[in-house]
Amino acid sequence: MIEWSEQHRMIRDAVRRFVAAEVVPNVEALEHGDMPPYDIFRKMLSTFGMDAVAKTRFEHMLARDRAREAGEAQPDRESEGEAGDRSDSAAMQLIPIIELCRYCPGMVTAVGVSMGLTSAAILSKGTLEQKQRWGLDLMTLKKIGAWAITEAGSGSDAFGGMKSTARPTEDGGYLLNGSKTFITNGPYADIIVFICKLDEEGVAARDRKIVTFVLEKGMPGLTQSKPMRKMGLHSSPTGELFLQDVKVGPDRLLGGKEDSRARSGAKDTFSLERSGVAAMALGIVERCLELSVRYAKERVQFGRPIGEFQLIQDKLARMEVARMNIQNLVFRTIEAAGQGRRLSLAEASAMKLYSARVATEVALEAVQVYGGNGYMSEYPVEQLARDAKALQIYAGTDEIQISAIARDLMAR
Ligand SMILES: Cc1cc2nc3c(=O)[nH]c(=O)nc-3n(C[C@H](O)[C@H](O)[C@H](O)COP(=O)(O)OP(=O)(O)OC[C@H]3O[C@@H](n4cnc5c(N)ncnc54)[C@H](O)[C@@H]3O)c2cc1C
Repeated sequence: MIEWSEQHRMIRDAVRRFVAAEVVPNVEALEHGDMPPYDIFRKMLSTFGMDAVAKTRFEHMLARDRAREAGEAQPDRESEGEAGDRSDSAAMQLIPIIELCRYCPGMVTAVGVSMGLTSAAILSKGTLEQKQRWGLDLMTLKKIGAWAITEAGSGSDAFGGMKSTARPTEDGGYLLNGSKTFITNGPYADIIVFICKLDEEGVAARDRKIVTFVLEKGMPGLTQSKPMRKMGLHSSPTGELFLQDVKVGPDRLLGGKEDSRARSGAKDTFSLERSGVAAMALGIVERCLELSVRYAKERVQFGRPIGEFQLIQDKLARMEVARMNIQNLVFRTIEAAGQGRRLSLAEASAMKLYSARVATEVALEAVQVYGGNGYMSEYPVEQLARDAKALQIYAGTDEIQISAIARDLMAR
């Protein structure tokens, strides 16, 4: 794939019209935290029938799981559907991300964590009963999800320094304690995937099993903070979670078993999150480039449009190279989906590292092209530069992506 198809362009134009009508007039309210981002996205889902598609996908998934439990033969994923359908469906998921990120990367962060990360964690590792209980509400954004691993003392080393615990109780349940920070949707989440360590006697803290629970808003002992103030992504509410003796039954233990591959489950989630960042970066870069080209033609200094100065041309040319490269990475994701192939963690890390870095560079250069105006909030490049920076931090920092890529190279 070297270009968007005619059909992709039609979808893109329709999404672009929706964004212009529903998102752009509300960017101020979204950015100042006066308007949580969820209702607009729900409207987007129903406008494009994406909720109905999600429901059908969910039902197929459950039917497959039921058949598997009944011991019936399963089609492998590769033979399911045509390659073209699979790549179109991947493109359908990525196009709205790109279009929304041109104006509001925070909205994509919030919704992506709910419909992407949280729902994927439950749908890939949950029991059939757990999928039925929480899956569809998350896939359709009827309920808001949060995925909580980070703690004040454990970020990049998410498992090593983790202090949150699950202590088994005599009735077969667990008592959960601890706190989480920087949690996207933390303040509003209805459903929370909470990752912690099993409190096992005689086992050193670093070696304890990782277990994951599904919690719900309002459970006794669970407190969700107000949104934290931060540098950018203001339309994505970020918060803390505090758990004090939260009592849960075994039905909330994800996968139903203490050894249900929670570490690898969290790693699969990292891979999904990382490959989505390239689409976000593409939206930011596309818009910064468009705005910069327009400004370079309009802004006159020394009697000439600034776009006639070679130093400004250099910035525009670099932005275009970045746009082409990131777009190719997005196309690669779509092609891989068409082949029924998931990107490996190292591939996803490489994509994330490159696109997050380049999006931040491009957005900062766009500020430079705009001069003093670029530093003013009245001009959109200021917001995009603050928003882009987060891509280098969440879903694993740049430094952590570098180690993941290098580890993979050296293991070959
Ligand atoms: C906007 C936003 C939303 C977020 N949403 C969520 C969420 O929904 N759920 C969630 O669980 N978490 C979330 N996070 C947390 C995020 O995943 C962490 O901030 C991130 O993983 C980094 O951890 P840290 O902040 O503790 O930094 P640290 O791990 O303390 O890192 C500090 C610095 O040291 C570097 N460093 C650390 N270890 C190494 C190493 N081995 N080699 C080289 N350098 C290293 C880092 O790269 C970084 O530059 C979010 C963060 C942000 C900013």
